[in-house]
Amino acid sequence: MKTLSLKHRLTTNDPLFSVEFFPPKSEETAQQLLRTAKDIQAYNPDFVSITYGAGGSTRNRTLNYARKLHEDYGYAVMPHLTCVGHSREELKQTIAEFKSAGLKQIMALRGDPPKGETNFTPHPDGLKYANELVQLIREVYPECDLGVAGYPEKHPEAPSLEIDLLNLKRKVDAGATFVTTQLFFDNNAYFEFVDNCRRAGITVPILPGLMSVTSYKQALRFCDMCGTSIPAALNEQLIAAGNNKAAVEAIGIEWSYQQAHELLKRNAPGIHLYILNRSGPAIALMEKIQSVGFYK
Ligand SMILES: Cc1cc2nc3c(=O)[nH]c(=O)nc-3n(C[C@H](O)[C@H](O)[C@H](O)COP(=O)(O)OP(=O)(O)OC[C@H]3O[C@@H](n4cnc5c(N)ncnc54)[C@H](O)[C@@H]3O)c2cc1C
Repeated sequence: MKTLSLKHRLTTNDPLFSVEFFPPKSEETAQQLLRTAKDIQAYNPDFVSITYGAGGSTRNRTLNYARKLHEDYGYAVMPHLTCVGHSREELKQTIAEFKSAGLKQIMALRGDPPKGETNFTPHPDGLKYANELVQLIREVYPECDLGVAGYPEKHPEAPSLEIDLLNLKRKVDAGATFVTTQLFFDNNAYFEFVDNCRRAGITVPILPGLMSVTSYKQALRFCDMCGTSIPAALNEQLIAAGNNKAAVEAIGIEWSYQQAHELLKRNAPGIHLYILNRSGPAIALMEKIQSVGFYK
């Protein structure tokens, strides 16, 4: 188990490595998550995060898997928490449960509107934006390390990149320790975002979030949902691969490897992998990145 707090870990020069899980719904997918958790132990992640489902629907599963990954696999776990459908009191209770489970970091999010709704409506006794959740966590669990979300290509609801950045600054000023980005496939978007953040006075580490494409259809769906663009070169390769699953995966791994390599060479604080509970692409990427001298 890693012992250095995330805050201190982020001040070292060694790049950080983390992966994101989501809470499984069935016995079969639960087994997949646990196999993946075991497989990636060899790469010694600094932390693993576990998402929080729409409408608070996965509250107990998020908490249970966070506990399991921490207690049975020795991971430093960062559960996500969203404001969706929760009162302040309910949020406080969940934060207290994370604390008593020994989880020392939380990802603080507003969350997306529940399925079928287009606008986010806060709970009548709840919170409207993630900066309010950061503030609440700071009150209830001040020593906790806090991640918040950043959007190199803008949050879909924000009227402009500039306004989105001011809102990101509110989260950092409220006490966020670091930012994890939305997935992106174009490193220029990340580097420009970091420059803009620094100009706006956001000084915390900005951890780039990467995903190896394993299905073109799925990548299009995710990008559509979160406002991420697919560079023309990647798009062309994926179209050419058609239904050849192995070819699509190989393209996805090579693209994310090239991204990770450039990001680490240009001193990004590490990489956070959206692995969708699968170990294969993450291991292939880590093997490649280790072969050129990173994470040795
Ligand atoms: C790394 C990462 C992890 C994620 N994990 C999850 C998860 O586990 N579960 C889940 O449901 N979703 C998750 N999401 C998706 C996230 O919940 C959505 O993107 C959501 O729409 C916004 O959440 P946020 O925390 O960025 O919100 P906020 O920071 O509150 O921003 C939401 C919108 O409101 C604007 N805004 C923010 N503050 C203010 C303010 N004070 N006044 C006016 N406007 C404001 C912002 O510019 C933005 O457009 C994740 C996203 C990322 C990048």
